[in-house]
Amino acid sequence: MEINKEHRNWLDALALNHPLVIAGPCSAETEEQVLAVAKELKNSDVSVFRAGIWKPRTRPGGFEGVGEIGLKWLKKAKEATGMLIATEVATAQHVKLALAYDVDVLWIGARTTVNPFAVQEVADALQGTDKIVLLKNPVNPDLTLWIGGIERLYNAGIKKLGVIHRGFSTYEKTKYRNNPEWQIAIDLQNRFPELVLICDPSHITGKRDMIQEVSQQALDMNFDGLMIETHCNPDEAWSDAPQQVTPATLKQMFIDLRVRKMDGESDDYQQRISKLRTQIDDFDEKLLEILGKRMKIADQIGLLKKEKNVAILQNNRWNEILGKMILDGETKGLSEEFVLKIFKAIHQESIAHQEKVYKAD
Ligand code: PEP
Ligand code: MN
Repeated sequence: MEINKEHRNWLDALALNHPLVIAGPCSAETEEQVLAVAKELKNSDVSVFRAGIWKPRTRPGGFEGVGEIGLKWLKKAKEATGMLIATEVATAQHVKLALAYDVDVLWIGARTTVNPFAVQEVADALQGTDKIVLLKNPVNPDLTLWIGGIERLYNAGIKKLGVIHRGFSTYEKTKYRNNPEWQIAIDLQNRFPELVLICDPSHITGKRDMIQEVSQQALDMNFDGLMIETHCNPDEAWSDAPQQVTPATLKQMFIDLRVRKMDGESDDYQQRISKLRTQIDDFDEKLLEILGKRMKIADQIGLLKKEKNVAILQNNRWNEILGKMILDGETKGLSEEFVLKIFKAIHQESIAHQEKVYKAD
């Protein structure tokens, strides 16, 4: 697969003012709602209007989208505002309908990207079109699966191609709805530097007050665009209410975001340092999360020891652990001194935790 400049042409034509902005509601709900959001986004930074028509829901019983009728509303929105229109497709039938209503941008959702049969079906249905096709990352953090999906679209002859980074599911609870795992997006960017890369901070964060921060991170890492869920009455939205923002908030966001032009030498430095810092921040966050979890286990040990009336300090076990950690650390390029220091600190905190539950009534 050779992704080259040709695959970016559509972007240059669309987003002269870098970055590309795709905005609109998570779901099309009613004709009035669709048109109201679209009209408020007219003459803004937004060049593509989005709305989900078929909604993949994690559990049955949720709002599963208005279906084909929503395509009529999208078409009206395009006529009223001049924005391009975008919707999610997951089956050949969706593609057929979206093409019939002249939808300009078709995106493949995270729950579809995980399934090669489904991506292939969509790719086959798209063969021969010159629509813009955007592939979201798979729900699970699997770069190869994501690249496999890109290859299926590429092999179907899609020339106007791009990907959307929307974060990844984890069983662990984090501050994100979908963990960004920036490293995966950066790896993809390094493998295919010309591939149009868009960030979806709405689905990454799941919370409207974190969207600006994540959007800035994406721009600092030279993402080409942002997809942001926008609704006139976010709290009343039929899907993804907590993460949608009003058109007014969106406009303000684009006033506040710092967009970096990446041509000069200092910009190259900025971009590289941003990527590295984001990776460091990711790891620091994970370190704290793991330490927090570790201390919760220490609390449980404290309780168990209390119940069985066992002393807190068990030096044998501790020395055993430390010896093993020093050896392990060496294989990872960590000095003995550092490993000793850090585990001493962890051990002290652990004992403090155990003592606290031990002494509690
Ligand atoms: C969406 O964009 O509304 C959507 C369903 O996204 P994702 O596939 O990223 O969950
Ligand atoms: Mn959504």
